Amino acid sequence: MKNISFKLKIALWTTLLITAVCTVSITGLIATSHVMTTRETKQRLISAVERNADEIEYKNGILEIENDFLFYSEGIYFDVYHMDNGGSWQCVDGKIPFNLSSNPNNGQPVKCTPENETEYYFYDVLINFNKYEYEIDAFSGQIIKYEAGSAHDAALTPKEYSVISFQNGIDTEQAIEIALEHAGASKETAKIVNVELPGYSDRQVFSVEFTDSAPHYNSVFVRGLVLANPVTSVLGTVTKAIIYILPLFVILAAAGAYLLAKKTMKRVESISNSARSINDGKDLSQRIKVEGGNDEISDLADTFNSMLERLQTSFESEKQFTSDASHELRTPLAVIKAECEYAMSPNADGSEKEEAFVSINEQTDKMTRLVSALLSLTRAEQGTKRFRFELSDLSALSADICRSYKTEKNIQLHYNINSGIHLDMNADLIRHLLENLISNAVRYGKERGNIWVNLTEEDDKIILGVKDDGIGIKEDDLPKIWGRFYRADSSRSNSEGFGLGLALVERIAVLHNGKAEVKSVFGEGSEFTVTFFKKV
Ligand code: ADP
Repeated sequence: MKNISFKLKIALWTTLLITAVCTVSITGLIATSHVMTTRETKQRLISAVERNADEIEYKNGILEIENDFLFYSEGIYFDVYHMDNGGSWQCVDGKIPFNLSSNPNNGQPVKCTPENETEYYFYDVLINFNKYEYEIDAFSGQIIKYEAGSAHDAALTPKEYSVISFQNGIDTEQAIEIALEHAGASKETAKIVNVELPGYSDRQVFSVEFTDSAPHYNSVFVRGLVLANPVTSVLGTVTKAIIYILPLFVILAAAGAYLLAKKTMKRVESISNSARSINDGKDLSQRIKVEGGNDEISDLADTFNSMLERLQTSFESEKQFTSDASHELRTPLAVIKAECEYAMSPNADGSEKEEAFVSINEQTDKMTRLVSALLSLTRAEQGTKRFRFELSDLSALSADICRSYKTEKNIQLHYNINSGIHLDMNADLIRHLLENLISNAVRYGKERGNIWVNLTEEDDKIILGVKDDGIGIKEDDLPKIWGRFYRADSSRSNSEGFGLGLALVERIAVLHNGKAEVKSVFGEGSEFTVTFFKKV
């Protein structure tokens, strides 16, 4: 699996997933439908057979199937079986198209496969003729009509009756005796359900109804037969169709997933090819191009491109930095070299040699300052890890710097520092920051000018400001002065500066969770503000 391509993996997983989901859902669907339809079919069969059984009676000793008896209804076939005098069951009527066992199977529907493996259920209801209805002539005691049916109705409870006698005829007791005797029942086993003498216009007739558990007529049973599961047989066909179609679906799903994965991976491949060619050609100005919509892949390409953008800017500024640094070092080195050659020449007298050494010393000082400025900046850019931070009194530190600062050009340094302002800081770095800003204000200040240093605290920030009424900065230069080695209009500037001071100020501000800003009016003065945000 490890060596299989990503495209193939996606295709395989998708196919497996689709196959599993299809199989589980289809099997579940078929199983549930089968259980439900089987239960419904059995229930339908039982109630239809029981309903039909109610339509069979013995009338005047003759078995009679009522007109309401249905031999075929809602897919169910019915037969009626009667036990002959020899004790064997004979089918008396019915429409069941198969030969099934002619013995009754009382209880639950039974499954059978009479032909072609098609499954059926049959259900038998044995009829117990235990309810008797007699009509007896009240005058002569003659039986006019009698019926026997099944009494599975529990409501048939024995009734209390009072003895009524017909004038010159028989009474209730006699009517009952006549009926029981005719049915071959005894008073002990029979339960009288109803005895009455309703008034008829032409004849007076006793109606006697009783139940008796002893059978007096040959048994009958009704059989119903129904297709075991019509829905299942449909489902069977569907299942077979699915079994044939499913592999086709799986192949289609696999092909679809593979093509989709291939299409997606093609764009990823194009990204990795572009990245490789950028890497091989070492050309950071190239950008990754991907065709297609606005999706995750183009997002990935955009992310790569913005990373390249940043890398390019960072490499270019590093290159610029190295070239600027070498340039700055080359000038003093060239001067030192020239002065050394001059001092070593036989023409140079003592005072000329001394002059050369003074110049070499100055250039060495300049180089030392440049190297230490570069070192400070590099350290500051490496982050907070190199420095120890502690909560210290910024007010005291700032006041101390302002108090001891020796300005030039008769410039006045005014300071307004709110006391007790504390900051989580590295005192050396903050000293560097403030001295840099004051020294710039002095360097770019006018004769007899002023410098104002302010330190205030607001809710969530501390603001340190250094303002001067010096030469000011041109609007165009304002965003550039924070860059390394940038000197605005170097002809106006004092040659002592390297253009690294403000870059360092900005880094120090960032290291202290702050930011440095400048406002300036060219010719009128500048105001540098460092805002430190208190950490929450
Ligand atoms: P430099 O060593 O040249 O002073 P900085 O990084 O400190 O380098 O400053 C960059 C440039 O910003 C300076 O060359 C100067 O042109 C301008 N600048 C800085 N501070 C001031 C100021 N207070 N007034 C006028 N211009 C300033």
